[in-house]
Amino acid sequence: MKEIFVRIDRCVGCRSCELACAVEHSRSKNLLEAISEIPRPRRRLYVEQIKDRKVPFLCRHCEDAPCVRACRTSALSQDPITNIVTHNPDRCIGCWLCAMVCPYGVINREEERRIAIKCDRCPERAEPACVQACPTKALVFAEEQEFAKLVRREAISQILHG
Ligand code: SF4
Ligand code: SF4
Repeated sequence: MKEIFVRIDRCVGCRSCELACAVEHSRSKNLLEAISEIPRPRRRLYVEQIKDRKVPFLCRHCEDAPCVRACRTSALSQDPITNIVTHNPDRCIGCWLCAMVCPYGVINREEERRIAIKCDRCPERAEPACVQACPTKALVFAEEQEFAKLVRREAISQILHG
């Protein structure tokens, strides 16, 4: 299964990923129209600054996801094959148990409806919007082995060519 891997060294903190995420989760999926939508379209990944580094952070769709276990109303569920954790807004009561147990702090609040929001890995797209928007390829959508091979090849290239 493909995952979204983060190349921390490549992030320049432009926040294109955050913007693309919010637009993808708008009703119109169009930047100009999304700005005036209610509820306001929100990002589901977060570029955080620690000292002089900026790092995009997003849901890891954990094995045996703690947020799914914590949810009392089954608003959160996990696909047994892909591991993707999705959220059903109609079942969410805004109790924030999921946000309390997520070890990565990537569950946010939609103020208007008082419900949780999180990454759904863009089910309508072949490649998640954040990955496609990143100009420096700091976000990589790949199988684990494919990503490892990419990193190995870059390391070898650095060793050979400095
Ligand atoms: S929201 Fe947090 S706990 Fe739930 S799957 Fe994503 S990273 Fe894991
Ligand atoms: S789009 Fe890429 S470079 Fe820009 S903030 Fe996001 S991850 Fe970093």
